[in-house]
Amino acid sequence: GLASGADKERVNAELRENQRQLKASGAVKALEVFRKKLPAFTMKTELLEAVKNNQVVVVSGETGCGKTTQLPQFVLEEEIEAGRGSECNIICTQPRRISAMSVAARVAAERGDALGQSVGYQIRLEAKRSAQTRLLFCTTGVLLRRLVQEPDLNGVSHVMVDEIHERGMNEDFLLIILRDLLPRRPDLRLVLMSATINAELFSRYFGGAPMKHIPGFTFPVKELFLEDVLELTHYPIVADQGGYNGGGGGGGGGRRRKTQEKAQDPILEAFEGVNIDSEYRKYSRGTQQSLQIWNGDQIDLGLVEAALQHICVKEGEGAVLVFVTGWDEISKLVERLKANSLFNDSRRFLILPLHGSMPTINQREIFQRPPAGVRKIVLATNIAETSITIDDVVYVIDCGKAKETSYDALNKLACLTPAWVSKASAHQRRGRAGRVQPGVCYHLYPKLVYDSMLRYQLPEILRTPLQELCLQIKSLQLGSIASFLSKALEPPEVLAVQNAIDLLKTIGALTPEEILTPLGCHLATLPVDPKVGKMLLMGAVFQCLGPALTIAAGLAHRDPFVLPLEHKEEADEARRHFAGESRSDHIALLKAFESWQEAKRAGRERNFCWENYLSSNTLQMMDDMRRQFQDLLSDIGFLDKSRGPQIYNLYSQDLEMVRAVLCAGLFPSVVQCKARGKRTAFFTKEDGKVEPHPASVNARVNAFSRPWLVYGEKVKTSAIYVRDSTNVSDYALLMFGGNLTVSKNEQGVEMLGGYLQFQASKKTLHLVQVSSVS
Ligand code: ADP
Ligand code: MG
Repeated sequence: GLASGADKERVNAELRENQRQLKASGAVKALEVFRKKLPAFTMKTELLEAVKNNQVVVVSGETGCGKTTQLPQFVLEEEIEAGRGSECNIICTQPRRISAMSVAARVAAERGDALGQSVGYQIRLEAKRSAQTRLLFCTTGVLLRRLVQEPDLNGVSHVMVDEIHERGMNEDFLLIILRDLLPRRPDLRLVLMSATINAELFSRYFGGAPMKHIPGFTFPVKELFLEDVLELTHYPIVADQGGYNGGGGGGGGGRRRKTQEKAQDPILEAFEGVNIDSEYRKYSRGTQQSLQIWNGDQIDLGLVEAALQHICVKEGEGAVLVFVTGWDEISKLVERLKANSLFNDSRRFLILPLHGSMPTINQREIFQRPPAGVRKIVLATNIAETSITIDDVVYVIDCGKAKETSYDALNKLACLTPAWVSKASAHQRRGRAGRVQPGVCYHLYPKLVYDSMLRYQLPEILRTPLQELCLQIKSLQLGSIASFLSKALEPPEVLAVQNAIDLLKTIGALTPEEILTPLGCHLATLPVDPKVGKMLLMGAVFQCLGPALTIAAGLAHRDPFVLPLEHKEEADEARRHFAGESRSDHIALLKAFESWQEAKRAGRERNFCWENYLSSNTLQMMDDMRRQFQDLLSDIGFLDKSRGPQIYNLYSQDLEMVRAVLCAGLFPSVVQCKARGKRTAFFTKEDGKVEPHPASVNARVNAFSRPWLVYGEKVKTSAIYVRDSTNVSDYALLMFGGNLTVSKNEQGVEMLGGYLQFQASKKTLHLVQVSSVS
């Protein structure tokens, strides 16, 4: 800024000199040989021209052609070489933390520079950058937060938004903001990078911005489906064990839950008119059980193992890339392979997990070829679909599913559940096998399923709750939420937007005039569902942190209790044991978690989980998530780690305080309990009569000492069930939740039997329950 012209020139000359020296090193020269073979390299001049002459450019190209690692680097090199180094300030966004880190490390190495010098990265809670950094890889979320302080991104010369084809919510959101910003910053350059060919959509959004396509080459990949894989592997089809013991895992429990409670699976819908029985028989050689192989919530890891074994025994050399849905399955698969005498040999197999939330990845092991005679097996989530390219993959095993957030109007919280991928993803996964030679892809689902997959996945903004996004719009001061969102690439439904705004008003994050409240400001800085965020804040403020962390982790992840079909009674009993007389599934979860921690310390975790029908994987995930939540709270100043945990847990043993915090987090998901003779009937504001879920500790119970339940999730099947609930009192609900004011719905159906509110008269507050409708 203040440097004189001469100073600036000196700095620019230094930068250029430094770059020339780095380039002369042997290591850089060696990597340059590799770089020059990348398809992106052949288009270097053309790409640089396009970026120079246009404010917006859309660049597409096959995964692995060099968009992410090369394009930002080309611009940086060119600017420094042209003597504009000090004005150059490139930001390249990545949807995932792990790609931001690994790409930054790679680009720094290709430049021969130390990471954090000219090239750096920044992700939430962690950064490697310095005053010298001219190219910064960051997560999309980091750039969005930076926009709060610097709405015009002054000082930034180039923004490159990567992986836009994924249509993540953050990326779609960022594009709206950038499109509005461009006229105010005519010197700012925007580059959009996409793997597939829907470049026109983005070009049109930016008023016909020029498109550049990097042509790529891949080898043919042979495609096998479940029917072929069963034939090849002679995989035995056995009656399912219920998924509980982790074996045979199609998950009888998962399957059953699905048909009973979840919306119909679109793939099953596609079977309408098909003789399902005979189709199943084709894949199952006469038994229907094998339906579970490909239709359960979980993947049949036995089948994955069989396919791996087939490749390693019968096929030629080459790395194997396995796509599963999450960390859970990756770690279970690692366990299985350890127990398998074939794979448990580190001289022959290098088994590497690859997951988006891993703190770091070992770049050398993942990307380089293993020593001769060693087969590399990478167990990955869909992160290896486009973000991370492993060149030497020859075999791909594709389970056909990925975790996606889904929003069902009945669900009060977004949930991350495995769902069938789109044809585009299946294609992309297959393509990973053909980078260095012809390959083979094993899809572990029938061809029929492939045929009925969606062509593209729905953009995230159209399939998730919008509360978090709405809060961000407000904290970035982008005006009216509805009119801002109407400018999106594919705008969400008006009703979905209104629902989100209403909820934010109800929980006190927005005023009735849609202005951000202080609570809303804090919630906007937490990258979690606002309800979960509110529970965390309340837990910290009311010194009841441990339980808030545990319950929030349970809500954000999933219930650690397993539901084995043939031990249902015992499993229910275990949950009731933890709940005691609390009338609370959340307290049962809390007690189970605390007992698990104790058992772990005593070295008897395995038995403990087994005896109490708990999944140690889920508990472990919850534990990790608790730690993340804690970091987030200290990041925004609600928790001072140096003061130790005691101070934040003075009331953690007080279950009344836990109930109060639950009210704060779960409101307005409220059920009224009304005595009906000896029985209890349950009502909600929107649905009328509901029932506690049969697995809830509140099912088939009649004596409720408090008149309300707060709940986390609601599902609709034969009846409307609240899945997990906690019995709470009037005062807790009013003081920590809010007012309830509904009696009958339009059809005159009985809803909540009255309403509650505080009435202030002089100095006292009275709790009144008015007009019982019975
Ligand atoms: P794109 O963004 O077009 O998908 P990338 O720029 O990510 O392509 O990758 C280009 C090439 O660089 C690929 O062959 C990939 O394997 C390689 N590569 C990327 N990151 C690393 C790394 N950290 N170590 C080694 N090779 C890498
Ligand atoms: Mg890329």
